[in-house]
Amino acid sequence: MKGIGVSPGIVIGKALLKEEKKIIIEKKSIINCEEEIERYKSAMDNSKSEIQDIYNNVLKSMGEKEATIFEAHLMILEDPEMLEQIEKKIKDDKVNAEWALKEISETFIAMFDAMDNEYMKERAADIKDVTSRLMKKLLNIKEVNFGNLANEVVIVAHDLTPSDTSQIDKKKVLGFITEIGGRTSHSAIMARTLEIPAIVAVKEITTKVKNGDLIVFDGEEGLMFVNPEEKIVKLYKEKKAEHDKSKKQLELLIGKESITTDGIKVELSANIGTPKDLDSVISHDGEGIGLYRSEFLYMDRDSAPTEEEQYEAYKEVAQKMKNKPVVIRTLDVGGDKELDYLNLPKEMNPFLGYRAIRVCLDKVDIFKTQLRAILRASAYGNIKIMFPMISSIEELRQGKVILEDVKNELKKENKSFNENLEVGIMVEIPAAAIISDMLAKEVDFFSIGTNDLIQYTTAVDRMNEKISHLYNPFHPALLRLVKLVIESAHKENKWVGMCGEVAGDPKIIPILIGMGLDEFSMSPISILKARGIIRNISQSEMKILAEQVVNLPTADEVEKFIEKNINIK
Ligand code: PEP
Ligand code: MG
Repeated sequence: MKGIGVSPGIVIGKALLKEEKKIIIEKKSIINCEEEIERYKSAMDNSKSEIQDIYNNVLKSMGEKEATIFEAHLMILEDPEMLEQIEKKIKDDKVNAEWALKEISETFIAMFDAMDNEYMKERAADIKDVTSRLMKKLLNIKEVNFGNLANEVVIVAHDLTPSDTSQIDKKKVLGFITEIGGRTSHSAIMARTLEIPAIVAVKEITTKVKNGDLIVFDGEEGLMFVNPEEKIVKLYKEKKAEHDKSKKQLELLIGKESITTDGIKVELSANIGTPKDLDSVISHDGEGIGLYRSEFLYMDRDSAPTEEEQYEAYKEVAQKMKNKPVVIRTLDVGGDKELDYLNLPKEMNPFLGYRAIRVCLDKVDIFKTQLRAILRASAYGNIKIMFPMISSIEELRQGKVILEDVKNELKKENKSFNENLEVGIMVEIPAAAIISDMLAKEVDFFSIGTNDLIQYTTAVDRMNEKISHLYNPFHPALLRLVKLVIESAHKENKWVGMCGEVAGDPKIIPILIGMGLDEFSMSPISILKARGIIRNISQSEMKILAEQVVNLPTADEVEKFIEKNINIK
């Protein structure tokens, strides 16, 4: 069977099904209302201590932002209005607590569901989560606790909720498989953060697996087997041994320089979304943060984060990175990232629309608040600012003028910041790449965003599965643009990095070394592999190959040429 591999690693282990027990709620008449209300309150107490435990665990292991959802659950649980209505229902209708809870929660859920606001709609999901916890308490249904397992298991579930993933004990959970989800769904992101192999979107898997079945899967390819023949188990045991061995070997590269055999040093940095990703950056020996996607601070909430909130987050990253470079990208919303409270218009072509720097130059208050927070945090480390989606010199200049205004404000207020903080741009629109010679004169650095640069150069929507075969990093047009951007930066003595997925692609890294890229920023788990590749190649040799590669006519020929000429271990 096949799904989407979202977190790498080979897993061989016994299945543990997360059963979604069908809860049947019967309407019963009761005589003693007070007793029934007491029973409900005791279910509330039990749920409360359970949610509090989860909240504390999540706060400790994942941080405040992830924990807030459980704070919301507590508020729903203790909502006086809901309790009052349930008590009234029990008394007036002389019905059991389960029935009263079902009826009242349904009206609340319907009310939130009907709201024309994504944030409020999500509250409906929270009420469902809390109601189901209460109902299980009332009906005495016990569930498997993923934090308290006796043996090693592979979890198989329809989906894993934040309550589930927050409890997972990494020592016992070898991996997990879910029926729904995609690369960026909650469970997938958590799998990568926890470094647990996982596959999502395996259709109807919960109906095909029983507890104790042998599960074998590859979290990179997305392939999985249930009770496979001995031959397959043997093959995957070998794969696992290989995977574990290469992981161990890669760990030997911790603390080593990222340097080619002919002495060219580059910087291997990490892409992060929130400060909690730093653990993984540090354990994989990231040499800096090449892309801090600040928009995550703005998501899953009903108003923009305050200056103080942002300042604390940026400062934490700067301090934890101890003077290593931290490139903070200013707000990049729009496209596939919506923020309800900004009331962004519905557009025909969101990726070509009101996005990123275009929003910031229009909603200057939001932009200034962010710039103030970044500047203030710059007093605590080696922070650099990066503007996304720049397509013209005018946009860059406008952004810099606003930045100067903010600097002057802070000076007047006697607030300290790094006056020499570097300002760079993402080169992710072909127009910027084409005029990179002129842009280079007005920035301190470039970072090439291949995720968008590929989609805009080849007119292939990066979210559209139907044309995903056309989204190809080996396209000669992309390689030519990358080469041009690197040359433009170097002519002006500016450094140039790359923070799109291509920067961590083992086949393309040697070509980028040959083109002279100075910094590579990627997901933390790719860093050591990239270092291993770089330490085995010589820049002068790669330079010759890079010159040849841009003259090959097709993506397929580019890929085959690289495979034939470069030995990537
Ligand atoms: C990119 O476009 O390459 C990039 C790194 O930005 P994002 O994926 O956040 O659009
Ligand atoms: Mg981008």
